[in-house]
Amino acid sequence: MARPAHFLGPWDLDPRLASVPEPGEGTVVLVESRAKGLALPWHRKKLVLVLAAQRHFAEELRGLGHEVELVRAGSYAEGIAEHVRRHGSTEVRALRPRDRGMEEALLRADLGAPLNLLDDGGPGGHFLLTRQEFADWARGRKQLRMDQFYAWMRKRTGLLMDAEGRPEGGKFSFDADNRKHAKGIAPPARPGTPPDALTQEVIEEVEAAGFGYGSARGFAWPVTRAQALAARDRFVAERLAGFGDYQDALVEGEPFLWHACVSAALNLSLLSPQDLLDPMLEAWRAGRAPLNAVEGFVRQVLGWREFMRGVYHLRMPELRDANRFGAEGSLPGFFWDPEATEMACVRDAVRQVHDHGYAHHIQRLMVLGNYALLAGTAPLEVSHWFWAAFVDAAEWVELPNVHGMALAADTTFTTKPYAASGAYLNRMGDHCKGCRYKVKERHGDDACPFNPLYWDFLARHRDDLASNPRMRMIMGHLDRFDPEELRAVRATADRIRAAHPPAPETYAFHDDQG
Ligand SMILES: Cc1cc2nc3c(=O)[nH]c(=O)nc-3n(C[C@H](O)[C@H](O)[C@H](O)COP(=O)(O)OP(=O)(O)OC[C@H]3O[C@@H](n4cnc5c(N)ncnc54)[C@H](O)[C@@H]3O)c2cc1C
Ligand code: SF4
Repeated sequence: MARPAHFLGPWDLDPRLASVPEPGEGTVVLVESRAKGLALPWHRKKLVLVLAAQRHFAEELRGLGHEVELVRAGSYAEGIAEHVRRHGSTEVRALRPRDRGMEEALLRADLGAPLNLLDDGGPGGHFLLTRQEFADWARGRKQLRMDQFYAWMRKRTGLLMDAEGRPEGGKFSFDADNRKHAKGIAPPARPGTPPDALTQEVIEEVEAAGFGYGSARGFAWPVTRAQALAARDRFVAERLAGFGDYQDALVEGEPFLWHACVSAALNLSLLSPQDLLDPMLEAWRAGRAPLNAVEGFVRQVLGWREFMRGVYHLRMPELRDANRFGAEGSLPGFFWDPEATEMACVRDAVRQVHDHGYAHHIQRLMVLGNYALLAGTAPLEVSHWFWAAFVDAAEWVELPNVHGMALAADTTFTTKPYAASGAYLNRMGDHCKGCRYKVKERHGDDACPFNPLYWDFLARHRDDLASNPRMRMIMGHLDRFDPEELRAVRATADRIRAAHPPAPETYAFHDDQG
């Protein structure tokens, strides 16, 4: 008897999703897409992550009694069409793909059966909100403010709200208590998840294919729900209590600090947002983690993650081409090669990305994103790099983070760019003391490159930035520069930009839709 086919993208690996049928009521099709695999110079650990997670999930569903086909095909659409042909499927059901290009590709394709797309949020979806619910919240607002969205989400869900409907601790956000540096403090170990036999096979396969960035060896990310739950539990037991205090800290040679390291599992749906929120609240109620840690974490998952996903769908396709500062520079080659820069903070962050496909939020925002912003790098070059090189990246989340947050290329929610000089990095981290550059110098060959690039950025965009009341103080500072000194600062910035090594040809981008 012909039945519907249920397509699960590699980001839909949760048996609780509405696109998973009851056993016997439809077939499940998963696809390994060649086009997607070759679309960007993906980190090899990301290729392992996606392939291993999908193959494990197919086994898990079979164990639950589902009829599952894992198809290798030229593209997702071709794989689905092949499955439909073989099974004579009456219909294709799927959650709406999270990335716009993927959704358009499926809508354009002839799958051989009608396509029925369900919302990827709300009941049966992965996200807490439906796309419509976010659009309704955003309607009529001139500027979208994450703090307002987050307060709305807290009230709506009742999370961390007291019996009178007030936020626990008297305020919605303890952001001001999340800014301690961690100099001299040893962070807890985060051992990672050792690969099992199936994952090891995938590691060998990816290494043998010889495509992509970094190495598949040393892979230690969770690829099943059970592994992801175990990693989450270790975070709650060992790192959550310090998450709040040290959320913004930078420590040389310490990639994970007190971070949860759950984004890759979450973005593949091995975990749902609720799987993360529940044990955090439980830890707080039991007195095992302070409010500033638990609220800080809830803010990321209930606030930032849902907000970014909402902004992405609201602002596409314009978000992709956003370029408020008209930045046209090429991505410096040291984004791919940590040994190609002497900036200790940048080298450390790029080394972590190279080794793990991961850097924590402050490295992404205030080291890598900040450098790209100050240097005037073209937004799409930056976002392609983030998309390819990070294990947790997908367009729906990297694009609003890169174009919206780090580069302020789009002004939907960021008016004041997260631009910072070396002084910020010196305050929050411990890299400067061993760096070849001098963090207090503003110009000359020994000056910390963040300094001349920072003042040059402000000078280049003076007209735009001066109208922002939150920039008034710093623009006043720029106006008081001695003209001679400003000339020297800007000449140093020009020299730094001109000396950027080019990105290696191997990592050129061809197509990013797949
Ligand atoms: C330039 C830039 C690029 C980024 N690209 C990605 C990306 O491709 N994929 C991705 O998942 N996150 C991205 N982020 C957001 C954030 O940095 C990562 O989610 C986080 O570092 C993942 O590590 P973690 O799980 O240890 O997070 P933690 O610091 O422990 O935070 C917990 C969780 O909160 C969520 N979260 C926190 N901040 C954000 C945010 N700004 N947007 C969305 N979710 C958030 C994540 O799911 C994360 O797992 C980016 C941020 C910046 C500034
Ligand atoms: S001196 Fe500048 S480049 Fe060197 S580590 Fe400090 S902030 Fe980074």
